[in-house]
Amino acid sequence: MTRWFLLLAALVWPLTAAADNPYELTPKQVADNTYVFVGALEHFSYDNLGNIVNTGFIVTDDGVVVIDTGPSRLYGEAMREAIAGVTDKPVVQVYITHHHPDHYLGNQAFADVDIGALSGTIEQIRAIGADLTTNMYNLVGGAMRGTESLPPTQEVTAGSRVTVGGHELELIGMQGHTGADLAILDHTTGVLFAGDLAFLNRTPTTPNADMTTWVETLHTLSQREFTTLVPGHGPVRDDAEAIAQTQAYLSWLWRNLNAAAGHGLDMPEVMMQALPYRWRGLAVIVPEFRRSVSHLYPDIEADVLEPVAGQK
Ligand SMILES: [Zn+2]
Repeated sequence: MTRWFLLLAALVWPLTAAADNPYELTPKQVADNTYVFVGALEHFSYDNLGNIVNTGFIVTDDGVVVIDTGPSRLYGEAMREAIAGVTDKPVVQVYITHHHPDHYLGNQAFADVDIGALSGTIEQIRAIGADLTTNMYNLVGGAMRGTESLPPTQEVTAGSRVTVGGHELELIGMQGHTGADLAILDHTTGVLFAGDLAFLNRTPTTPNADMTTWVETLHTLSQREFTTLVPGHGPVRDDAEAIAQTQAYLSWLWRNLNAAAGHGLDMPEVMMQALPYRWRGLAVIVPEFRRSVSHLYPDIEADVLEPVAGQK
């Protein structure tokens, strides 16, 4: 009797486990053998389950390469199931673009695979991964259940090229959005996975940004040849609009905040500014602008005030 029950439970459990998974992920093909799960243009919430990010995968002759694993263990599991609906090839490699939690907290679902990242990304995840995870539980709630921070297991060399099943992938190491940003250019299809170096129609986030470096990085990235760009957040397009838009917004933000500090505005005054009409199309512009002011303005104010103080 007990044996039959256990057998039944073993058969039914995977079905109920899958049914319990709240994520509904549909892969969108963006190029030959290349798919993206496009996230919502929103902030983290209980309603969107933290699914506000783009993740992707490439089906090669030797197996599947996954780029970013999403905001939670269940997202990673849903991703793996959706991949299995496209191909019966195994997942053979995962790359993580940077240490932000919406990009890597699905790693547990890929614990049997090499998970590659830049050394700076691995260091950050080891140092603050537990805190990032706790914060995500607060923002997203039950969809995070069972999620733990699993650091990448493989350090990739910036600038290296790897060939997986006929796809030549260039691992481009850059900085700006964070201290370690990995962009992946598939020379076989021309698809550039830009991670959060590029946003489209969604306001860029700046909690770990070096603004001048980021703008320079985008200029460098814009010189590269590619046919399709997958931004970290926002629609996939066959042009460089995500780079141009991110660059324009960051340049404006930096100029605006420096000018405000020069005029002696305090932080609440800067936050309450009317924003230019040109950014009306960016999702979550008002809260994200205010978040950027809170991150960036104290240092800008200090830099502007320092020479004045020095004259006294
Ligand atoms: Zn990010």
